[in-house]
This record gives sequence, structure tokens and C-alpha cells, in this order.
Amino acid sequence: MLSIFPTFAIVCFVYVRIKFVDIILGLVVLMKIIDSKNLSNEKRFKIKNEISKIVSNAGCRPGLATILVGDDYASKIYIKLKIKACNEVGIKSFNYNISSIDIYKFDLIKLIKNLNLDPNIHGILLQLPLPKKIETEYYVSNINPLKDVDCVHPFNIGAMYMLKKWDEIIKKNIIIPCTPLGIINLLHNNNVEISGKIVVIIGRSILVGKPIASLLLANDATVIMAHSKTYNLEKICKRADIIIVSVGRAKFLNKNFIKNKTVVIDVGMNNINDKVCGDVDIDSIKNMNVKVTSVPGGIGPMTITSLLENTLKMFKNQIFFKK
Ligand code: NAP
Repeated sequence: MLSIFPTFAIVCFVYVRIKFVDIILGLVVLMKIIDSKNLSNEKRFKIKNEISKIVSNAGCRPGLATILVGDDYASKIYIKLKIKACNEVGIKSFNYNISSIDIYKFDLIKLIKNLNLDPNIHGILLQLPLPKKIETEYYVSNINPLKDVDCVHPFNIGAMYMLKKWDEIIKKNIIIPCTPLGIINLLHNNNVEISGKIVVIIGRSILVGKPIASLLLANDATVIMAHSKTYNLEKICKRADIIIVSVGRAKFLNKNFIKNKTVVIDVGMNNINDKVCGDVDIDSIKNMNVKVTSVPGGIGPMTITSLLENTLKMFKNQIFFKK
């Protein structure tokens, strides 16, 4: 009977110690947020300056047409922010909102074709995803490739996939989809080593997953693509030096997927009780030695900055081709 007491005392001691360590660790935040604000502001400042110089020579301003179809929560937020950013740097925006009810009577192809021919429009952004029953490939293929600011036309996608090296892509002035361009710029700017590193991408969309895989390959990464049919995702992610998550499910990626020193890029944009949050469960990883982008504030602003960059690029190309 007496021997129970020392055992009980040891168990209590160990329990209290574990709890104590937990509490201390809970107070120590090791996780670092990768800042995109400075880079984004810096780039927008340069774009604004360049536009004000070009406008006086060209006699016109870059014009971007945005087309929003349906009621997607994230898309509505993006469009609002994109219009605001255009105004701030001196890009004229022309905005078309088509509700999901109207889409069946609205001639979207006619709108796209008119915008293709309109000399005041230098970039066309058809905000994806389109409502489920609408065939995305058909509509994006009708955008003039010279005005395709988000690189969704098969011609531009092909041009990007064909090039093997990042330097070549930049040198040849290839158009790159906005979100992947923002991600690569952010990684480079934060001196994140990509060459030879294992990158796991979760999500295989045409706007994020697939193009970022191609761009990371062009930066010499070893790329693993994951999606809803992937087995053992946690185990696969634990091997990653960099994880890019673009799933669209709040708190999807938690500490069970991540090892220490991993860089996590959170692309997700979700609505929880009217608050925006990403795909990463930030609370669960805050005591880990990892770097992560925040939502809001991480990839979102970089995507919009890339859209401004691409619009300016297409504006310059069109003026150049005219001459
Ligand atoms: P998406 O078209 O919404 O597709 C989601 C992807 O996630 C699919 O490939 C799907 O796999 C995969 N997935 C779903 N459940 C999964 C699971 N349990 N395990 C592993 N993979 C799973 O993708 P998206 O267009 O890239 O959008 C994803 C999120 O990113 C959304 O929240 C969107 O709003 C946001 N987003 C943000 C930005 C930005 O600028 N911040 C830009 C674009 C998108 P299957 O292919 O097998 O179905």
C-alpha cells in the first residue's frame, strides 16, 4: 500500500512538469509571418511612377476590364480590391458584374469579343471560378491572348509551360498568372531557397496549383502535386521544405502536416462568420519554427500587385505592337 504513494507522487510530478512545459511553450511564439506588405507597396509605387511617365508619352492610360460572374464570396472581395488598386496606380478599370441568374440570358462571349476589340482595354480579367455549370475553358479561350492578364488562354499557358528556366521566362516577357507570379516574387524577395528543395503543392487548379508547379520546376524545385485523391497527405507534407496550400478549406493545414523550418504559403481565402481566413490553422503552428504567409495580407496583395504588373506589361506590348 505504501509503495503506491511514491508512484502517485512521480506521476503527479511528471504531469505537472508536462503541463508547465506546455504553458511555457504556449507563451513562446516561434512562427514567423512572411511579410508581403513592403514588397507589394514597393512594386505598386514603381508601377504608379511608370504609368504616370508612360501616359504622357502614349496619350492614353492602361485599361483593365474585370468580369465577375456569380456570387463567389472570395471573388467579390478580390474584384473590389483589384478595382481599388487599379485606381491607386492610375489604371482605368471597367467592371462588369453578371449575377448567376442573369448569366443564362447574358451573352458573355459577345462581351469578351467586344472587349477584345476595344482599344481602351489592354487587359481582360475573367474572375475565376465561374459558376459550376459554365464551361470555363470555352470562355477563357475566347479572350484575346494579348489581353489575357491572368494567363488563362491556352496559348499563354503553353508558352509558360514550354520554358524550362525562370530566367528565360522573365527574359522572354512571358505572361505569368497573377497568384503564382506573386508567390514566386515573395519567395525570391524573402531569400527562400527553392533550388533542390521539396515543394508540396496542395490543389491543382489552373490559376494556382498547376502553374505554380511549372514555375517552381523552372526554379529547380522538386515538386509534388497533391489533391483530394492523394493518400497519406500528412506524411507527404512532412517531407516538404515548402508547402503551398490552395484548397479553400479553413484550418485545413495544421501542425500534423508540417515539420520545423518549413515555409508555408497559404493561398486559401475562406469566410468564417464573415471573417476572412486562410487554409492554415495558424493557432496550431504558432509554437513551431516555421514561416508562413498570413490571410488576409499575404498572397492576396501579391496577386493584386501582379495583376497591376501584368496589365502594365500588356499595355506596353500593345502600344509597342501598334507602332
Ligand atoms: P479550386 O479550384 O477551388 O480547387 C481546390 C483544390 O483543392 C482542388 O485541386 C482539390 O482537389 C483540392 N482539394 C480539395 N479538398 C482536398 C483535400 N481534402 N485534400 C487535398 N486536396 C484537396 O482551387 P483554387 O482556385 O486554387 O482555390 C483554392 C483557394 O484559394 C480558394 O479559397 C480561393 O479563394 C483561394 N485563392 C486565393 C487567391 C489569392 O490571390 N489569395 C487566388 C486564387 C485562389 P481535386 O482537384 O481533386 O478536386
